[in-house]
Amino acid sequence: MTSSTPGCLWVVATPIGHRDDMSARAVETLRQATVIAAEDTRHSRPLLQHFNIATPLVALHEHNERDVVDALVRRLQEGESVALISDAGTPLISDPGFRLVRAARAAGIRCAPVPGACAAIAALSVAGLPSDRFVFEGFLPPKSAARRSRLQVLAGDPRTIIFYESSHRVAESLADMRDVFGGEREVVLARELTKLFETVLGEPLAELAARVASDPDQQRGECVILVSGRGDDADAKLAEGQRVFAILREELPPAKAAKLAAAISGAPRKALYEK
Ligand code: SAM
Repeated sequence: MTSSTPGCLWVVATPIGHRDDMSARAVETLRQATVIAAEDTRHSRPLLQHFNIATPLVALHEHNERDVVDALVRRLQEGESVALISDAGTPLISDPGFRLVRAARAAGIRCAPVPGACAAIAALSVAGLPSDRFVFEGFLPPKSAARRSRLQVLAGDPRTIIFYESSHRVAESLADMRDVFGGEREVVLARELTKLFETVLGEPLAELAARVASDPDQQRGECVILVSGRGDDADAKLAEGQRVFAILREELPPAKAAKLAAAISGAPRKALYEK
């Protein structure tokens, strides 16, 4: 299948910062498409102009996706070639496009990926955290109470957890992660990947949360937070036991809270009680 294949929906990744990460195949596909569905046409125009791509654009964003999908599926059924891009990285990954791909597939239309940059995978590739199993959580809820309850659900997951976060919430989110996962848990903050101020910091949560809270430079740009999964070793069990103990202690006497926390976490009751 080439990019001139009619009636195909091409899902095309674009760079997350460095323009040279645009693949030759992405450029060719976007040039040959009949139309490019873009999350924000004004945002994508400079990139397309840079690569001499003159294909007409239509907007497809979260507010109009339902309305635009039918028209695009009709064009695909008539044999047109449609390319889907988002503002940065891989469409559908915390970006619009899901409804279009789903509708196209349901209509029997071929959907073909043109893979490339994705911030989550780029961050994982340099984080130095276990990468054999991981879970992508996208954005956490913006309000602390909802964010903490989501984190509680994830606290026992043994896989590396990947979050997207906006720069103005990164300090708050790291503080919530420290409180819920325990300050010992390893975390990596990957900021401005492939850009001028690219920074990858890896530390225990307590230290990184403190560092980011006190350094406004670490609260700028785009970032990915990666948290190592809950380990099985004694330290991890103790950290988990302390976390559970702190929650139970709000409602129960210390001995009872320690007993239950030990049963839930696998940490020794005596160590929890003494702590
Ligand atoms: N579709 C994109 C992808 O494939 O990664 C993600 C789009 S999502 C709306 C934007 C979020 O991705 C940002 O808030 C940030 O968490 C992350 N992100 C995007 N570019 C990044 C970069 N260069 N460095 C670090 N994180 C980035």
